[in-house]
Amino acid sequence: MSFVSLWFKAFCGSNLRLLLALHARVSVFALIEPATGETLASIPQATADDADRAIRAAAAAFPKWRAVNTRDRGRMLLRLSQLIRENAEELARIESRNVGKPIRDSRDEVGLAANCFEYYAGTTNKVGGQTIPGAAPGLLMTFREAVGVCGIIVPWNFPIAITSWKSAPALAMGNTVVLKPAEQTPMTALRLAELALEAGIPEGVFTVLTGPGSVAGEAILTHPLVRKLAFTGSTEVGKRVMELASRDIKRVSLELGGKSANLIFDDCDFDRAVVSAVSSSLGNAGQDCCARSRILVQRSIYHRFSKALIEAFGNVHVGDPLDDETEMGPLVTAAHRDRVLQYIATGRSEGATLATGGESREGAGTYLDPAVFLDVDPGMTIAREEIFGPVVAVMPFDSEDDGVRMANDSQYGLSGSIWTRDVARALRVARAFETGNISINSGSSVHLEAPFGGVKQSGIGRELGLAALDAYTEWKTVYVDVS
Ligand code: NAD
Repeated sequence: MSFVSLWFKAFCGSNLRLLLALHARVSVFALIEPATGETLASIPQATADDADRAIRAAAAAFPKWRAVNTRDRGRMLLRLSQLIRENAEELARIESRNVGKPIRDSRDEVGLAANCFEYYAGTTNKVGGQTIPGAAPGLLMTFREAVGVCGIIVPWNFPIAITSWKSAPALAMGNTVVLKPAEQTPMTALRLAELALEAGIPEGVFTVLTGPGSVAGEAILTHPLVRKLAFTGSTEVGKRVMELASRDIKRVSLELGGKSANLIFDDCDFDRAVVSAVSSSLGNAGQDCCARSRILVQRSIYHRFSKALIEAFGNVHVGDPLDDETEMGPLVTAAHRDRVLQYIATGRSEGATLATGGESREGAGTYLDPAVFLDVDPGMTIAREEIFGPVVAVMPFDSEDDGVRMANDSQYGLSGSIWTRDVARALRVARAFETGNISINSGSSVHLEAPFGGVKQSGIGRELGLAALDAYTEWKTVYVDVS
């Protein structure tokens, strides 16, 4: 049995005692199900030694994986995509129970993971170098080479989706991957590693290390055999990643925090803008790096819009993640809910008005009613810091310039929306927004086929689309003297 499948058994709970007897030194930690407060699984915590073994195995597997012919490599990734689809309901239920997200969202995210492996499976034999008409008389050409072992570290909010959108392009380009999921949400990553083996992807090519960032994560960041770090998480930890990567100049891509603006002009389609303001701020209970948590509304419709938004927030179906009707589940952990509650208390103490929600529910589960703040000054903590929960700040603006200035008044620049019927204004404002992604008359952020990433302190580099391949390849230039 492989390292990964042994660990997968551990998470399933089956044979855990036997596993512990066999590996007496393995320490485990309990995952708590957010909806019930009960123990969901026991997960091994990887040590620095475990990380070293996994990385060495990935380095040993790299030359063989890179040499697999591109058609076969693509077929294995395509097979993995099919296996994800065949096991979609199981994966979605695991994700919902582990993260607390509504089952219909988990189904969408598992679908995104399958689509992602399918998309990048098709790139293995289509993306190459160039022949370049240089000034020198010889032949000038480029190749796109795999980087080597990629250390991939992901957060807890979209576990299988983010795991896939980093791992699929990395594997497609011939790299091997050591993945560390967030300590709170390792379950779908472990299942994915099993499916990868079933798809024919050799051992050592895609390995999962569970446990906290301070141990397994730092071991990946500092290991000399890791050539590339792809990190998604908080800006604070992103800075640490960059700092440690600088020691031996590892390649780095970072997808970090956000505080995105939803800019709503008075000529918008009002009803659609309200519906989108709810879904684009409360999706995944607001635990979304792209959440439009700053809602900027033109003053002439500010009161009408705020009233409609407050009513819509009150109608959101908060409940059991496994119920098909649920729109918002519990927050991921009690500690995170307490952090969000602390932000709500800060908002009130700084003088903003809590117009609805913001109360945690009695009983089991980390439920929190979605909150709308009015009378928010752009300098307040709740308007500046990423809360990462179901909390929005609604603020008025006057002119187009005023709205753009307020939208850009942030250390972050990840996503955002513009609502207007004026096409020229929509495009003008889209260009002026300091952000990596912007939607017009839509709350969407992520499109598998297009680059995704942030500016300013929201990150460096792009994931998804063909742009992601830049993050997982090195250009090599070859010159041939033909004289
Ligand atoms: P986090 O930064 O606390 O953790 C992210 C990952 O880093 C986890 O796997 C964690 O174990 C690991 N980690 C923590 N400390 C580490 C260290 N010292 N060395 C190595 N690894 C370490 O973030 P989180 O709380 O899991 O996720 C929420 C954050 O992620 C938010 O800020 C959110 O905006 C951001 N996020 C960004 C994107 C994006 O695409 N830009 C997407 C999702 C989430």
